[in-house]
Amino acid sequence: SLELKNLTMAYGDIDVLRNVSLTVAPGTTTCIIGPSGSGKSTLLRGVNRLHEPKSGDVLLAGESALQVKPDTLRRRIGMVFQHFNLFPDHTALENVALALWSVKGMSKAQAMERARRRLAEVGLAERADHRPRDLSGGQQQRVAIARALAMEPEVMLFDEATSALDPELVKGVLNLMAGLGKRGMTMLVVTHEMGFARKVADQVVFMDEGEVVEAGTPADLFDNPRSERLQRFLSEVL
Ligand code: ATP
Ligand code: MG
Repeated sequence: SLELKNLTMAYGDIDVLRNVSLTVAPGTTTCIIGPSGSGKSTLLRGVNRLHEPKSGDVLLAGESALQVKPDTLRRRIGMVFQHFNLFPDHTALENVALALWSVKGMSKAQAMERARRRLAEVGLAERADHRPRDLSGGQQQRVAIARALAMEPEVMLFDEATSALDPELVKGVLNLMAGLGKRGMTMLVVTHEMGFARKVADQVVFMDEGEVVEAGTPADLFDNPRSERLQRFLSEVL
């Protein structure tokens, strides 16, 4: 499980996340929605400590993530960004395999073999030897997901993984993410895709101005929004 307890995060003197608490139960998917600037990315960055929280705690399987070395933490938490951040001079296979031998200490042969399997799982077996520039945006994002999965993380974080993709490529990546959720991955997903949140999420969290305004099932939030802020947000995005 992943638990945020009164997480507060700041840039300089400004608190951009205030006392955020939420729990992602093992094997479930939580989607975070909310307007631009509401603190969604900052929250994810706090979970894997790309930015250190100011106060509060993050519990990973009951253990404080703030007590775990950042390197170890990032092995246990996979993250996928809007921009795929692949190494341009390496093939798809190498992109997936690199961290396995450099971080996980596997032999090169073992790493390649596992990477091949992960690429096959995201439907890219045929593209293993292509460099990122010879792949579509959707394929590049699937390589990035395969790379994160190869580390066998306990939790996956997604930050608008489909926002940079051409519309016709979005669906393939969302389907892949939905499949991961079905297979029991614990996921925290920041998304603008309300259809995905409604269909795939076990829990939806609406954030505004650095706070959790509402959290509940997709039906709670989408069909019965209680706060005026969520009602206004939904009327703008749906
Ligand atoms: P979007 O939907 O546009 O990605 P978001 O919900 O992810 O927005 P954040 O990126 O978490 O929002 O930003 C939350 C607040 O923190 C915003 O007011 C933003 O301007 C501010 N902020 C983000 N990154 C920094 C930074 N590196 N330095 C200073 N302020 C920042
Ligand atoms: Mg963001």
